[in-house]
Amino acid sequence: MRANPNIVVTGTPGVGKTTHCETLAERTGLRHLSVNQVVKDKGCHEGWDEEYQSWIVDEDKLLDALEDEVAEGGCIIDWHACDLFPERWVDLVVVLRVDTSTLYDRLKARKYPEKKLQENLDSEIMDVLLQEARDSYDENIIVELTSNTTDEMDSNVDRVEAWIKQWKKDNPPDGGNDDGTI
Ligand code: ADP
Ligand code: MG
Repeated sequence: MRANPNIVVTGTPGVGKTTHCETLAERTGLRHLSVNQVVKDKGCHEGWDEEYQSWIVDEDKLLDALEDEVAEGGCIIDWHACDLFPERWVDLVVVLRVDTSTLYDRLKARKYPEKKLQENLDSEIMDVLLQEARDSYDENIIVELTSNTTDEMDSNVDRVEAWIKQWKKDNPPDGGNDDGTI
C-alpha cells in the first residue's frame, strides 16, 4: 500500500503539464517525475527523430526505469501519454485541456516544426489524450481540467491538493485500524 498517491498529469504538449506538476510538487511535497527527463537521462529511447524533434521512446525500457520510483508512491507523473502506466500504479489522472488558439500560440512560441505543431493541434481538437485516458483507466479516477489561464491553473492546483488530502484520509498507513490489524 502506498503512503502517498500517484497522479498522472497528461495532455497534449503545451497544455501546462510541467507547470502544473512543478507547482503541485512545491505545494504538496510529492515528487515531480518528469518522464521526458527519465527518457533522456536513462537512455530509454531508440534515437532522436529529426523531423519531430523528439526522442523515439523505448516503452519497455522506460517502464523498467520508472517502476521502482512509482511503486513507492507520491509521484506526480508528467507525460504526454498515459496508456503506458499500469492501472495499479495510478490513483488519479488529470487531463489538461486548452483552447486551440492558446495552444497554437504556446507551440509557436516553442518553435515547433509546422507538421508537429499541426498534429498536436489536431490531437487536442480530437480529444486524443482524454480518449487514451478513458481507454486505459476507470472513469472515476479521471478528471479533465482546463489550463488556459493562470487563474485556471491556480484553481486546478487547489483542487488536486484537496484531492490529495482526502486520499490520505481515506488511505491511512495502518489501514484505519488503531492496532494495525486488518
Ligand atoms: P507542457 O509541459 O504540457 O508541454 P508547459 O507547462 O511547459 O506545458 O507550458 C507551456 C507554456 O504555457 C509555458 O510557457 C507555460 O508558462 C504556459 N502555461 C501553461 N499553463 C498555463 C496556464 N494555465 N495559464 C497560462 N500559461 C500557461
Ligand atoms: Mg512539459
